[in-house]
Amino acid sequence: MPRKSGAANHIHRYKKVNLGENGKEFFVYKCVKPACSHYIPINLAEGKLCECNRCFNPMVITKDILVHSGKKPMTKPHCADCIKRRKPDALVAIAAFLEGNKT
Ligand SMILES: [Zn+2]
Ligand SMILES: [Zn+2]
Repeated sequence: MPRKSGAANHIHRYKKVNLGENGKEFFVYKCVKPACSHYIPINLAEGKLCECNRCFNPMVITKDILVHSGKKPMTKPHCADCIKRRKPDALVAIAAFLEGNKT
């Protein structure tokens, strides 16, 4: 049965955001899609389905993703294929630099 409009009928695409207040840290994965306010605390995200931020295929959040960046969760989770496919070329380096500069 199709759901009513407005319900989450898509696969969420997550980005890590900090919802903590007053200097506290409370990281969640929040869906970046328009009109979707879904988010999930990162410690509950393992095993959840989401969309890869690079190839946009469905993927499952694994422990690897949650400890990918020096024991920290990926900012924009992407699938194992995209991790492997990562090329050390200049464009990727520039994109990573620009992404790191966003707050
Ligand atoms: Zn969503
Ligand atoms: Zn991917």
